[in-house]
Amino acid sequence: DAFRLSDLEKLKVLGHGNGGTVYKVRHRRSSAVYALKVLHSAPSPSSRREIDIHRSLDSPSVVRCHASLTTPAGDPALLLEHMDSGSLGDLVRRAPLPEPALAHICGQVLRGLHYLHSQKVVHRDIKPSNLLVGSGGQIKIADFGVSKLLRRSLDACVSYVGTCAYMSPERFDPEAYGGNYDPYAADVWSLGLTVLELFVGRFPLVPEGERPDWAALMCAICFGEPPAMPEGASEELRDFVGCCLQKEAGKRWSVGQLASHPFVARSDRAESERMFRDLLTDGPARPESS
Ligand code: ADP
Ligand code: MG
Repeated sequence: DAFRLSDLEKLKVLGHGNGGTVYKVRHRRSSAVYALKVLHSAPSPSSRREIDIHRSLDSPSVVRCHASLTTPAGDPALLLEHMDSGSLGDLVRRAPLPEPALAHICGQVLRGLHYLHSQKVVHRDIKPSNLLVGSGGQIKIADFGVSKLLRRSLDACVSYVGTCAYMSPERFDPEAYGGNYDPYAADVWSLGLTVLELFVGRFPLVPEGERPDWAALMCAICFGEPPAMPEGASEELRDFVGCCLQKEAGKRWSVGQLASHPFVARSDRAESERMFRDLLTDGPARPESS
């Protein structure tokens, strides 16, 4: 890695989250701009996991991770591709998004999820603030802070030669085979909720103006009817979100199936992308509500 922290000049804070603080930085010699995510935790298995997973990914649909560094205070940090139009969370704070823009978003996010799932990575935190936007209208998946790699490491296998050969599939990959549930389906639920939020302009599971009460929220998700699209949505969008928001994981559509859903497959790609790009240059943000 040719990157040293002392080569980077902090320009401003791009965002905060549970996992860290993200700065816009400039590389002094090349003057290239990056995002630097400094993790709040000291080096730990969870920060190690985020770094290892993110560094292993290589796709135009995933925010690129160029290097991992350590700050003078000992905090782990990730040097990321800078996404210059912020997140979909910033965008929805300005206004609800029109359907063609949503079709563009769904197409892009499904490509990213298809890649992640092919790498046996479950993201587990798909939401507007983790979907970042480039000024050209590209949308990339970010924040692998709670992601999970379902691949049992080959190292473990190699170090148990002799016993490993007889292990059943579910012992290598318990979550993928155990019971009837597909661990990747979790990302599809989150995508459905994300699309619903982008369409209505606010998080759909908490009444307008109220702060989330986590116990009530969990009850609503587990025992309530799945949230539905409001009036005014097209039949295709309504159905797309319905296919994602199946409470039973086994009934949820897979990422591959959703990519050929009429809402995505029958949209005019060029037109949807143009409408989405137009949103990036419109109007000021509404003040943050929560
Ligand atoms: P956390 O794990 O704390 O949620 P994230 O990786 O989601 O951290 O980053 C928090 C916020 O910082 C994002 O919602 C986004 O607004 C901003 N951000 C993160 N990474 C980038 C990036 N590569 N380019 C531009 N902004 C970013
Ligand atoms: Mg985040």
